[in-house]
Amino acid sequence: METLATQVLICSLLTTIVFLSCPAMSQEVIKKGDAVKHDYGIEKNDAEFNYDMRSKKGPFHWGEIKPEWSQCQKGSMQSPIHLTNETIKIVSELGPLQVNYTARSHTTVVNKGHQIMMKWNESTNFLHINGTQYLLKTSHWHSPSEHTLNGKRLDLEVHMVHESPSGQTAVIGTLYRVGEFPDALIDLVIHHLKDIPHIGDEMDVGPLDPNPMIKDVNSYYRYMGSLTTPPCTENVLWTLFKEVGTVTPEQLELLRKHLRHDSKANARPTQPLNNRLVELNQPKNTTSDKN
Ligand SMILES: [Zn+2]
Repeated sequence: METLATQVLICSLLTTIVFLSCPAMSQEVIKKGDAVKHDYGIEKNDAEFNYDMRSKKGPFHWGEIKPEWSQCQKGSMQSPIHLTNETIKIVSELGPLQVNYTARSHTTVVNKGHQIMMKWNESTNFLHINGTQYLLKTSHWHSPSEHTLNGKRLDLEVHMVHESPSGQTAVIGTLYRVGEFPDALIDLVIHHLKDIPHIGDEMDVGPLDPNPMIKDVNSYYRYMGSLTTPPCTENVLWTLFKEVGTVTPEQLELLRKHLRHDSKANARPTQPLNNRLVELNQPKNTTSDKN
């Protein structure tokens, strides 16, 4: 009887799971143009966390949601951080950032629900840091910015995520303020966003040139941190341009438009520095303007 009861229980659970899954599975996306929907489990995965500070799935609880996300809570070198004059060490020996981006890489734009992501397929874009080559894999936007400059959150931040052959991650970031001039990289994809209105929608937008996100390669912040979304993996090599870009209110609005309501503001709170070194590389003849 006990075995039968167990079987009945398992069957009920399976039926419930199947029943609950059905509405999501049958929710067909209206395809426009070349936009397609692929099942990468993105929708399910993204629904597991959000940016609502009062939610049990919000940033203050990410580390409790899954054992493999524990770094979000227990890690000691998490991102983002405050970039403040008090903690920055000005150096010049890091030299100009060696970025080699081309326009030959086919790009896919994806609506992940908590962010708009670009996949740089068969990427020919790379950067060199300390003799290691990192390939550009994906990029995405956060608004407002995740890193803060002297206590101020800016309006937007783009992250270009790179990976070395041994699996090390290096992220380049640019911060933006709302201003008169549009950002050229966002301009390249903005008109495609109406074609990926649903979570999981993606669209091949052909070869794109990521160079517009590159700012002054001589002046940048450098520190060791983490991914800013679960699983919050550490040992990520961070580079943030000192030069701040501008984005128009219309661009900002369009980047947020099709995101989930609990993730339209998708910036993780800043994390403790814990005695980490944050360097600001500048050419030697530059005055010590920490901005
Ligand atoms: Zn990011």
